[in-house]
Amino acid sequence: MSLIGDNVARILAELPPGVELVVAAKARTPAEILEAVEAGVRIIGENYVQEAAEAFAAVGRRAQWHFIGHLQTNKVKKAVEIFDMIETVDSADLAAEIDKRGRSAGKIMPVLIEINSGEEEQKFGVRPQDAEALLLALARHQNIRVQGLMTMGPFEGDPEDARPYFKIARRLFEDFKTLGLPGVEMTYLSMGMTNSYRVAIEEGANRIRIGTKIFGPRS
Ligand SMILES: *Cc1c(COP(=O)(O)O)cnc(C)c1O
Repeated sequence: MSLIGDNVARILAELPPGVELVVAAKARTPAEILEAVEAGVRIIGENYVQEAAEAFAAVGRRAQWHFIGHLQTNKVKKAVEIFDMIETVDSADLAAEIDKRGRSAGKIMPVLIEINSGEEEQKFGVRPQDAEALLLALARHQNIRVQGLMTMGPFEGDPEDARPYFKIARRLFEDFKTLGLPGVEMTYLSMGMTNSYRVAIEEGANRIRIGTKIFGPRS
C-alpha cells in the first residue's frame, strides 16, 4: 500500500467506534486525495471551494464532501452544489445565504456551527456566548439542518493546551441537545487535528479532521 494508504489505515484502526475521520485535504492533489479514498476514507474536508471542485471532478461521490474553511457568501452557490455538509457556519448572514441557495437547488443543507472556543480575534467562528442566538436564527431556516458543532483550537503546540477549547465546545453541544429545537440535532461534534485528535476524542469529538498525519507536512 502507499504511504498515504498506510497512514489512513493506521488512523482508522486507532479510532474508537463512533468516531469518524474527515481527511483535511487542503493543498493536496486530486491524486493524493484519491489514494486516501481508496484506503477507506469516507469524508473529505476542503477549505476552498475551487480546490474542492477540482478534487470533486476526480473523486466524485465516492466520498462525502465537507466544507471546513471560511465560506464567503459569493461561494455559497457552488458550495451547496458540491458539499454534503458545511461545518463552518458562524454568522446569520452566511446561514441566510446557504438557506436561499439551498432552496433554489432543492436541497436541505446539513451544517455545523463553528465555535470560536478561544475567542481568538484571528480565528473564525461564533463566540461561545453568542452561539445560542445563532442557533436560534439557524433553526428558523427551512433549507438548513443544524447537525452539531465544530471547533478549531490551536493548530500546534502541546495537545493538552487544546483541551479547554474542546471542553467549551462540548459543553455547548450538551446544552443545545436539551433545547429540543425543531430542525436542530446535536449529532456531530467535529474537533481535533493532527496534534490534538486524541485529546479531542477524550473530550467527546466524534468527527476528527486530519491532514498532516495522513499526507505529511504541507509544503
Ligand atoms: C488543515 C485543517 C485541519 C487539519 O490540520 P492538520 O494539522 O494538518 O491535521 C483540520 N481542520 C481544519 C479546519 C483545517 O483547516
